[in-house]
Amino acid sequence: MSDRGSPIRETTRVITAHHQQEGAGFSVRRPFPTLGLEQVDPFLLLDEMGPVHYAPGEAVGAPDHPHRGFETVTYALDGEFEHEDSAGHRGVVRAGDVQWMTAGAGIVHSEMPSRRIREQGGRVHGFQVWVNLPRQMKLSRPRYQEVPSTRIPEARSTDGRARVKVIAGEALGARAVIDTHTPIVFQDWSLEAGADVTVPLASGYRAFVYVFAGAARVGNAEAAVEEGQLAMLGPGEAVRLRGVEGASVPARLLLLGGAPIGEPVARYGPFVMNTRQELLQAVEDFQSGRMGEITRTAELRGGGSTA
Ligand code: MN
Repeated sequence: MSDRGSPIRETTRVITAHHQQEGAGFSVRRPFPTLGLEQVDPFLLLDEMGPVHYAPGEAVGAPDHPHRGFETVTYALDGEFEHEDSAGHRGVVRAGDVQWMTAGAGIVHSEMPSRRIREQGGRVHGFQVWVNLPRQMKLSRPRYQEVPSTRIPEARSTDGRARVKVIAGEALGARAVIDTHTPIVFQDWSLEAGADVTVPLASGYRAFVYVFAGAARVGNAEAAVEEGQLAMLGPGEAVRLRGVEGASVPARLLLLGGAPIGEPVARYGPFVMNTRQELLQAVEDFQSGRMGEITRTAELRGGGSTA
């Protein structure tokens, strides 16, 4: 597995995620944006939703809200995330599924736990990542890629101790089916004790690891990165990931990387543009209805997903 000779990227900084209330009041773990780390270009935000077990009637989500100028990526680990939008899309993201939504010029959508989970309760765990778009794509036509778990390529190391789901990019010979506007790596790793893999990662990419279960060693350092911590990766051409000896549970982590966009970022809530003027335009376009609205059927209104 080892890519001998490639300079390994070492951890330059560890950030512990903070808790934050989102949408109609659900809690997320958010490593960034945070004070001192506004973005990891091209990534604007990383939220871990849950893991949480909702009692019946307890689950809430994010009712109708707009986005413009970037992409939202939803990756479900557990539970069911229901969405619908002003372009008439409607669907459910289930465990292992990915929804890669390019908001582009603008979309209004809702993101809710499924009706079943709202009514009967259940476990919810997943991620939302915001990926920035370069200036010339910020006002592009909205686009969806909805990929069921069965189509997400998986691979394992020869010793079987490391496994990866390749959502974007390439690892251990598996190549993603999702098409990204700019070069992106998005991988979900599982590392048992004794796992030791080194995977190439383009030297121009900015990259980080976020551990969401157990603990893992990143790079050649002995210190472990713990659950809820993000490790920023320094320069190099490869990422080394290791399990921790004697660990009772496999480490789970996301490896995210991408080519930095390198443009000014002006952000206001759900809008991410290049200038303040463009933000004001986004607010005005939303308020005047130019980003559309969600048309609901009686059945969905009955679901009580939003007012
Ligand atoms: Mn959203």
